[in-house]
Amino acid sequence: MRALTFLASRFVAGDAVDDAIGAVRALNADGLKATLDNLGEDSLTREQALAAAEENLAMLRRIADTGVDCNVSLKLTQIGLAIDPALARDNLTRIVEEAARLKNFVRVDMEGSAWTQKTLDLFYAVHDRYPNMGVVLQAYLRRTQADCRDAVARKARVRLCKGAYKEPADVAFPSKQDVNANYDKCAAILAGAPLPAFATHDDARIEAALKSCDAAGLVKSDYELQMLYGLRPKRWRELRGQGHTVRIYVPYGTHWFPYFYRRIRERKENLLFVARNMFE
Ligand SMILES: Cc1cc2nc3c(=O)[nH]c(=O)nc-3n(C[C@H](O)[C@H](O)[C@H](O)COP(=O)(O)OP(=O)(O)OC[C@H]3O[C@@H](n4cnc5c(N)ncnc54)[C@H](O)[C@@H]3O)c2cc1C
Repeated sequence: MRALTFLASRFVAGDAVDDAIGAVRALNADGLKATLDNLGEDSLTREQALAAAEENLAMLRRIADTGVDCNVSLKLTQIGLAIDPALARDNLTRIVEEAARLKNFVRVDMEGSAWTQKTLDLFYAVHDRYPNMGVVLQAYLRRTQADCRDAVARKARVRLCKGAYKEPADVAFPSKQDVNANYDKCAAILAGAPLPAFATHDDARIEAALKSCDAAGLVKSDYELQMLYGLRPKRWRELRGQGHTVRIYVPYGTHWFPYFYRRIRERKENLLFVARNMFE
């Protein structure tokens, strides 16, 4: 178990919020922004959901106290969506209210397709009162161009990613090529939304998104490029050096296994890193 914990530490910034704040400080020193995620999904009881909400509130206060340049990302099933949508709404409202008081921002991550509509419904219900929040859309889903157009119309901030869950072919494009083409089309639509965030390690996708931003007349402070902690650190610094705003997603906490599993499943080099270290 300890060996696995060591391997996960490439992708996860530690068990406790202060471990993660330390990682964020190091990123900030290099001109990189961050978003903190307290790992966890699928809370099964109200107590777990409330504890997760409290952790997010504590995280926002710790960010304010330490003065790091960082916002917060969370998953709605972690704060109760699977138990009771009213509980999740109440928790999300409390978190976003506290973020507004502290002049910070909350990003709602997107989970598997069973949650897409429920996540968007709850996001927009709260967003109408608290614009200091954004959501994630996944380019592998067939519905996402329409969701991007809706986000533009509703002036919502969106992080665009490819999508990390195993999905059936009727809801998601099975081929990488189609996902990539859809990513570029969605990025072009989102160039019309406030502060779009393009989350990918794929240089061709970044290039296409930058072209769309340029064509829409955006300047470098009008969008963000985002990558995951532990993946392509050299590239973060190159992009920052070119004047782009770069934000790194920094997960922490003890419930790291599903996140770690998604990282090793999606890219063979991540799996090789794990295998190499197991034998050393
Ligand atoms: C900030 C952020 C937030 C995210 N939030 C969510 C979310 O809320 N919901 C969700 O479902 N998913 C989320 N994801 C995960 C995302 O959906 C993908 O699963 C993940 O980013 C892998 O896709 P990719 O776009 O990086 O490209 P891939 O298809 O994995 O890789 C494409 C190409 O990128 C290059 N590349 C990728 N990784 C590396 C590397 N380590 N070193 C060198 N080159 C590399 C290679 O050329 C590769 O062929 C998030 C990702 C990021 C970056």
